[in-house]
Amino acid sequence: MTPVISVENVTFAYGDQPAVRDVSLTVEQGDFLGLIGPNGSGKTTLLHLMLGLYAPDSGSIELFGEPIEAFENGERIGYVSQQATSQAGTMPVTVREVVTMGRFPHVGHGRLTDEDRRLVDEALETVDIADLADRRISQLSGGQRQRVYIARALASEAELLALDEPTVGVDAESRDAFYRLLESLNESGITIVLIEHDIGVVTDRANRIACLNTELYHHGDTESFVESDALTEAYGTTGQVVHHHH
Ligand code: ADP
Ligand code: MG
Repeated sequence: MTPVISVENVTFAYGDQPAVRDVSLTVEQGDFLGLIGPNGSGKTTLLHLMLGLYAPDSGSIELFGEPIEAFENGERIGYVSQQATSQAGTMPVTVREVVTMGRFPHVGHGRLTDEDRRLVDEALETVDIADLADRRISQLSGGQRQRVYIARALASEAELLALDEPTVGVDAESRDAFYRLLESLNESGITIVLIEHDIGVVTDRANRIACLNTELYHHGDTESFVESDALTEAYGTTGQVVHHHH
């Protein structure tokens, strides 16, 4: 099967100091990848590279089997950025209007059909915010707002959901519910890439882990990550150099 994302030997620097160095990884269809690493370790940068928001200095990236430079099917990807939940936004748009935007890539210059409206209603139901449909997005809590962005991605029939620390500013109860929602979306076949600072959440929910600190310290299944030294190596919590004897 063609990987959803394929990253090969990618390096990217903002100035002369690389933020991401020689990273290679693949995300397969149906994966739930947890992308972890200390603050400033390049997680957001790597996600931006994987979504084509930045071009790598060297190396290559494919999305759904296509070179990222040629990729034009943005509706296949739902992206919730790091600021999405904390910024209230001042645009006077309603929840339903934001979620309906997920249909725009599909309707072209035409009008919304009954099927488009059905998909919007379904997305609102799935993330359990149908009762908020007519509220302004600026009036919502962080947790509610984050569900709106997920619903927009679902309405667009996205196959890949990419989320950058989506529970910052979200209360503990909504967080749990949100991760259960992500898990059930993943079980329904949606591929997930999640940046999350809570490592426990990631090892509980994700089947694959990428552990980054500019370079990749681990990329593989969650079990082998838990048994490895990648976490202490990447986070440096021991303050010691770890020697390997393979
Ligand atoms: P993370 O998401 O893991 O916290 P980032 O990808 O945001 O890490 O940042 C990685 C490194 O790149 C950090 O040292 C950060 O200061 C730097 N960086 C991030 N964005 C920019 C930018 N727009 N311009 C210059 N440096 C940046
Ligand atoms: Mg970040």
